[in-house]
Amino acid sequence: MPKDYTPLKKKITAALNDPERGKTLLVAVKRGRDARHDQLATLEDPEGFREGIKEIKTNSIAILDSLLTTFMENCKLNGNQVFVAKDGKQAIDYILDLAYKNNVTLIEKSKSLTTEEIELNHHLIEGKKDLNVVETDLGERIIQLVDEKPYHLVFPAIHKTQGEVAEIFTRATGSQVPNDLPAIMDAVRKHLRPTFLNSQLGITGANIAVAETGSIIVETNEGNARLVSAVPDIHVVVVGMEKIISTWDEALKLVMAHPISATGTRLTNYVSIVTGRLPLGENRARELHVIILDNGRTKMRQDPWLKEGLDCIRCGACMNACPTYGIVGGHTFGYIYPGPIGIPWTEEVHGLDKAAEFAHLCISCGLCKEICPADIDIPMMIAKVKEEDVEKNGQLTPNKILSQSDDFARIASATAPLSNWVIQSRVSRGFMDRFLGIEKKRKLPRFQRKTFAKRFASIKQTVPNPKGKVLYFADLVANYNEPELGVRAVELLQKSRIDVAFDPKLKPSGMPYISYGELKKARRIADWNVNLLAGYVAKGHDIVATEPTAVYCLKFAYPKLLDNSKNSLEVASKSFEYFEYLEKKCNPNLSPASGRENERTTIGFHIPCHQRALSSGKFTISALESAGYRVKVIETGTCCGMAGTFGLKKGPLGYDLSMAVGKPLFDLFNNESPAIKIIATESSVCTIQLEDGTKCELVHPLNLISY
Ligand code: SF4
Ligand code: SF4
Repeated sequence: MPKDYTPLKKKITAALNDPERGKTLLVAVKRGRDARHDQLATLEDPEGFREGIKEIKTNSIAILDSLLTTFMENCKLNGNQVFVAKDGKQAIDYILDLAYKNNVTLIEKSKSLTTEEIELNHHLIEGKKDLNVVETDLGERIIQLVDEKPYHLVFPAIHKTQGEVAEIFTRATGSQVPNDLPAIMDAVRKHLRPTFLNSQLGITGANIAVAETGSIIVETNEGNARLVSAVPDIHVVVVGMEKIISTWDEALKLVMAHPISATGTRLTNYVSIVTGRLPLGENRARELHVIILDNGRTKMRQDPWLKEGLDCIRCGACMNACPTYGIVGGHTFGYIYPGPIGIPWTEEVHGLDKAAEFAHLCISCGLCKEICPADIDIPMMIAKVKEEDVEKNGQLTPNKILSQSDDFARIASATAPLSNWVIQSRVSRGFMDRFLGIEKKRKLPRFQRKTFAKRFASIKQTVPNPKGKVLYFADLVANYNEPELGVRAVELLQKSRIDVAFDPKLKPSGMPYISYGELKKARRIADWNVNLLAGYVAKGHDIVATEPTAVYCLKFAYPKLLDNSKNSLEVASKSFEYFEYLEKKCNPNLSPASGRENERTTIGFHIPCHQRALSSGKFTISALESAGYRVKVIETGTCCGMAGTFGLKKGPLGYDLSMAVGKPLFDLFNNESPAIKIIATESSVCTIQLEDGTKCELVHPLNLISY
């Protein structure tokens, strides 16, 4: 009997029933996204900047053993103590030992997720009963006072309103703190000042450790780490092993990368560099202890799927982009590490069971990879975690059915129109809802007996002196549900003097297998398709698809699944979005489609998530505009919520969450002035979602143009 994720579903439902908290979170993550976007736009070469970060991290992890040795040697030469802790217990024991030896009763801390990872505060207080440990970062202090876990990597208390914070400090200080920002800040300063002045031991994390001088860098916006590291006689740094890099040149790039990605600023307010400590006066020696934490990182480094997680610079940007995190928040979408990158990190440091508690909140939209400054393929790492969970605990029935949509579509097409009657009937929808977990409110697409594969021979033309050769990759919908779309795509290419081929042996992209953690099956499909497609590429064909997810698979998912095999990379380099190919190779004269000549309304354009990794729709928009339409991109910056077949599933881990994710986008379309009547989008599943959530007509861009 597979696990049914009841606790997760309950948490999702609770989050959906808390609209105030939901609004606070959505505003906060959007502010983070927008600020990062605006700051990135001020850079001369944003993509180059991102590539630079990736390079620093990948190179550092590759030579981590020697960096560790160099860092430790230099750190010791600076007069410090250095210790490598294999796990959290060793790190905790080391600090407890220091606390006992020095009669420490008050420890102050600045924000450090690495210490959260090992639940340091809890273990210190357990290990020495007279010890008080006080967080000095405002967000962390709030979380500590209410005994919660961080909600976000960078903003641990992002979900708390100003009023709630005022109440928390009223309780903590015993004096009424008004719901007013300056008054709250004044109260917080007074509340923390005695801790800053009286702590005997200060603990910080480190954003970066620089091997060439054995220094550590701590970035804060509140300046608290400077006090924590400077005032007490003993300063302990707990730094994750993966934070060590080679040089100061690299360090300065990362010092910029953190705030740009995290808060949309060029520099964090306080960048503290700690290399060693001098005595205070003649007799008061001061100590620096650097604990380098492994706790699963060495194991992670050896895992071909998850080692990329070590490139994470903990900026939190992926949380700001993730559509489901933006609805349910870090207490549902996280254990200690929240959000997208929290899934692989949790798997590595806290175990599969903890990670599986929230891994299935990932709807494989790919947006976290798009926003990540280190270009980490987080979605694929999550797919790997899901696979491990599915292998251990079994697959849910709706996931099993939906991941096999190809088999289902083939049978439904072969038996249409009977299959359509059965699928649409209330009785069978009730049955599917109740026993298969497919939401009955969703309108399912109709199947055509005469698939595109059957029609191709009758539309195939011999093109004399062709300008190019194309293999049309129809994927599932253009073959089984909307063969007219495939026909139109081929006819336009042929009219532009492109020789078009089609191979009925090709399978649909297999994306559902990735989404539902069935990577072995996804790999088999990738291998099959790439082998076939490579033959066409060798004969000079380019590959073109009308479904953005199919192009995403060809360009990104297949190479990843096939370990960047030569064939997969060649196929990727020759794969194009339909309108990209049209613009680059055909440049046809376009006009409105028949019957649309008098359309004078502005067309709303929706960018499917997987298209963001491609062109963000720029070629499609340009084609529509050259056909005479006014086009307006309407977007929230995240997903419409459908996410492949996720939104077809019943309940909190499907339809309910899907519609909640989509709601802000529906509102934008529905409230646009002047009113939007038509939405153009190339994704077949976004079409289903926007038809359900808006009052607009959904049209594939190919059906809006004539040639
Ligand atoms: S792929 Fe999308 S849903 Fe999944 S973790 Fe990344 S942003 Fe979130
Ligand atoms: S995975 Fe990328 S975006 Fe997410 S916190 Fe790490 S570096 Fe930032």
